[in-house]
Amino acid sequence: MSPPIPEVIGTIAELRDRLSLTTQNFAVAGADTRVVLVPTMGALHAGHLALARRARELGDTVVVSVFVNPLQFGAGEDLDQYPRTLDADVSALAELGVPYVFAPTAQEMYPDGAAETRVGAGPVGSLYEGAARPGHFDGMLTVVAKLINIVDPDAVVFGQKDAQQVHLIERMVAELNFRASVDVVPTVREEGGLALSSRNQYLDPVQRESARSLSAGLAAAASVASQGAPAALAAAHAVIDAQPLVKLDYLVVVHPQTFLPVDDDYRGPARMLVAALVGTTRLIDNVPLDIT
Ligand code: AMP
Repeated sequence: MSPPIPEVIGTIAELRDRLSLTTQNFAVAGADTRVVLVPTMGALHAGHLALARRARELGDTVVVSVFVNPLQFGAGEDLDQYPRTLDADVSALAELGVPYVFAPTAQEMYPDGAAETRVGAGPVGSLYEGAARPGHFDGMLTVVAKLINIVDPDAVVFGQKDAQQVHLIERMVAELNFRASVDVVPTVREEGGLALSSRNQYLDPVQRESARSLSAGLAAAASVASQGAPAALAAAHAVIDAQPLVKLDYLVVVHPQTFLPVDDDYRGPARMLVAALVGTTRLIDNVPLDIT
């Protein structure tokens, strides 16, 4: 028997009603009352589905939000072109037994236009992705804070693919004392290593082939990480710089706690971050480095 189609809910009031009724009923029945939130912008692929699967392990009442958040897009970015595939998203989630999809309009989330009260991402929010996309992380944290307040989940699930996002969310959840725990799922990749992304569908076959150099460069870096951050950077550059279609934006080794670049003589766990333009498509990836 196939699981029921998820209920698609568009308003905050209705979602809150459904969740409180469900958890009350589950409590009476002695069933699992944990609520788990998976924030997404839709156009779901196997990476998102891995998050939803993890969420089902963490609790029975899973809410996958599908909201292309205007607040985190800059002028001239792909807000209007961003793929919107709600029907397919809902069908994919049905297979996983996800009961609720929260798909609000921008008007529902921001009834007074762009929110004036925003969560500030702080100094790390202006580095790397934040340098290329000013205001992006304030917009992202603001919508995640809103979604957490709307759903009041026990856990919220994110992908390691967006490492800087994970860092900033973990810091927000700690510093603003949200009760939700943050669960992070490893990056899902296609055969050949390219990290799955909703934006990969913008790539033509030649660009897609070139884009594989990002994950290949990170893998090369990880394999020589014991020689230190400069050797890891050189190994990644050798692979990525050989691809003329890949316009590197940043390649950096950061400290896992501060997310600031490490010194050349740093020893310990670290993470390498990369971002590049392939054609007009912006791609990011990252890998842990063991610099011991
Ligand atoms: P997005 O819809 O791009 O905002 O992503 C929603 C969530 O899915 C974020 O937590 C992402 O980090 C996560 N995600 C996106 N791509 C992947 C991937 N390839 N592997 C794991 N998680 C991913």
